Amino acid sequence: MTDAVRCLFCRIVAGEIPATLVGESPEAVAFRDLTPQAPVHLLIIPRLHVVSLNDPDAARVLGPMASLARELAEREGFAEAGYRAVMNTNGDGGQSVFHLHMHILAGRPLKWPPG
Ligand code: AMP
Repeated sequence: MTDAVRCLFCRIVAGEIPATLVGESPEAVAFRDLTPQAPVHLLIIPRLHVVSLNDPDAARVLGPMASLARELAEREGFAEAGYRAVMNTNGDGGQSVFHLHMHILAGRPLKWPPG
């Protein structure tokens, strides 16, 4: 079984599972989180199956993911007010889907430090 078959986010990239897409690039896809933690909660993922920041392939997809984040922040109008980009990694980081993703949270003041 390939990653594209078994990974939830690979299946979203492949269009096999519905998601509310908000943007895409040749390297990355963005969609709204199913359980939003802020008025705006987007997920930006690489098309390539990269497990987490611990994956050696992470470095080559982070630039395109950051570019898509910047583009969406401008387009959705929260760039100036501000936002938070979060990448949870493994157990202590709270990662629950093991396909690299950047959470983009915006639309309200966000507390620091997170829980
Ligand atoms: P993490 O806990 O950092 O791995 O984040 C995974 C995120 O994926 C969570 O915020 C979930 O709400 C979100 N999520 C899980 N399944 C879906 C889905 N089918 N569509 C959109 N977001 C999802």
